[in-house]
Amino acid sequence: MKHNFGAGPCILPESVFKQSSDAILNFNGLSLLEISHRSSDFVDVMSEAQELVKKALNVPSGYTVLFLQGGASLGFTIAALNMMRDNKKAGYINTGTWAKGAIAEGKAVGVDTNILASSEDKNFNYIPKNFNIADDLDYVHFTSNNTIFGTQFQSIIDTDRPLVCDMSSDIFSKPVDVSKFDLIYAGAQKNLGPAGSTLYIVKNEILGKSSSPFMPKYMDLKNHVDKGSMLNTPPVFSIYTSMLNLRHLIKNGGVSAASDRNTAKANLLYNEIDSNPLFKAAVKGEDRSLMNATFLLNNNNHQADFDNLWNDAGIVGLKGHRSVGGYRASMYNALTIESVQILVDIMQELARTKG
Ligand SMILES: *Cc1c(COP(=O)(O)O)cnc(C)c1O
Repeated sequence: MKHNFGAGPCILPESVFKQSSDAILNFNGLSLLEISHRSSDFVDVMSEAQELVKKALNVPSGYTVLFLQGGASLGFTIAALNMMRDNKKAGYINTGTWAKGAIAEGKAVGVDTNILASSEDKNFNYIPKNFNIADDLDYVHFTSNNTIFGTQFQSIIDTDRPLVCDMSSDIFSKPVDVSKFDLIYAGAQKNLGPAGSTLYIVKNEILGKSSSPFMPKYMDLKNHVDKGSMLNTPPVFSIYTSMLNLRHLIKNGGVSAASDRNTAKANLLYNEIDSNPLFKAAVKGEDRSLMNATFLLNNNNHQADFDNLWNDAGIVGLKGHRSVGGYRASMYNALTIESVQILVDIMQELARTKG
């Protein structure tokens, strides 16, 4: 048995993998992969997936759920194109690689991207706080969870300006007040489903108000809303599997129960990192991500021993991103606390034998 701590694509529940592979062979007589996206069978899948997102996150009326393509990377561009208004000026919080990506794409489509706050001075190991937000900004953008550096906003940025968020790596991990946002986007493959679809939760009020002098058809969220997320062929497999995963989530208590489980998993691991003399956390307590825990060995002489231990235990995906080094344990919804316990046991074994 493997324990997948990979940062994405994510682990999904075994039952979801099973149902999704069954549907590849037989989905009402055809393969899921060959059905028409215009067939009533798939139209039902799309609408159930949209409804389950609304149910899981308690999405208020006045919002539309879309499943588009291009990943969160295209979300950077789509967000800027749809949110820019006459000032063509926006505020961004620079909390790492993905935030930087969003800033670069905003700039590329003509937005004056103001960095309201940054944690780059300390290699992004904290979440900046207490920054000013000017009232002439068209929108404010932040990345709720920084997958690479292991930091997470513990509260939503407080502003009257329209708020945009890349929630790729913590959506559905805990309750979120969607009414505070004008636009949320998230690549499916971090905590929702297989790569290939990107979730957008769009406040309908924002549609059709862009000041961009150019707007390719696919980039305009209004076109997708008007076509019920079927402007072009949607990524059928990714949406179907995401729908199965949302059913599973709701059946198991929804995002509040998921949040309790995720907190328990993260506490278990962070407690070990903090108490084990061989390890240190990359991020301080209050800004730590419950999804991606980044940590290092105090002494690199222990690296080979530790790597052997976790490899032998069937743990995969634990190697840290090159920009932090060390280790990163991603604990998305489907990772069980038993898997985390196995990692903790190994860390204790290392301390016992090498400490
Ligand atoms: C992985 C990730 C991205 C990039 O997602 P793609 O779907 O590969 O484009 C963007 N933002 C965050 C927070 C991520 O974790």
